[in-house]
Amino acid sequence: MAEQEGVIKYRLDFESGSAPDEDLAELIVCRSILHGLDMIGQHPDRYGGYGYGNLSRRAGGDAFLISASQTGGLAELEPEHFTRVSEVDIEGNRVRARGPLPPSSEALTHAMIYCLDQAITCVLHVHEPRLWQYGLARGLPATEATVAYGTPAMARAVQQLFEQGRLARQRILFMAGHEDGVIAFGNSSDQALAVLLRHWIDSR
Ligand SMILES: [Zn+2]
Repeated sequence: MAEQEGVIKYRLDFESGSAPDEDLAELIVCRSILHGLDMIGQHPDRYGGYGYGNLSRRAGGDAFLISASQTGGLAELEPEHFTRVSEVDIEGNRVRARGPLPPSSEALTHAMIYCLDQAITCVLHVHEPRLWQYGLARGLPATEATVAYGTPAMARAVQQLFEQGRLARQRILFMAGHEDGVIAFGNSSDQALAVLLRHWIDSR
């Protein structure tokens, strides 16, 4: 069963504030590429018209900067479209964030990737039907259809995959329970983007 995009499932402790000070240029370029390829976007006939896809980068310790909720339809993002997630309690399903707009509904999913390895500095979450089907059919690292995104159960499943080694090596994850949902990550935005695009090309 496909899940509704855009629905925040975690408890959000949000404080309104200014755009992040960090340099977001690389992340914004990366995001423009993904939007151009329809891996991030918003269409009336997809996912009930909700925006889809989001990305983030680590901002020291466990904090990260993530694209804001429902920005999928914008062709270009500005720093004002990013929010700082300063604290995440995955088991407790809580997110603390500060910025001009609330964080993506999938902030918890990003947090669980950053928890896996301190060297991971960029997480991309896209929706791409053909890539998703390709990844699941090829037996690439995937979470079960019964595991809902952004839940403690998903975090445990991802950790298990990472510890088994394949996810740690391949750096791409297919979520069978989240329609068209793919996550790629890396030690830089270039690395994460390269992983994603290499598989996307293979899926064409
Ligand atoms: Zn998604």
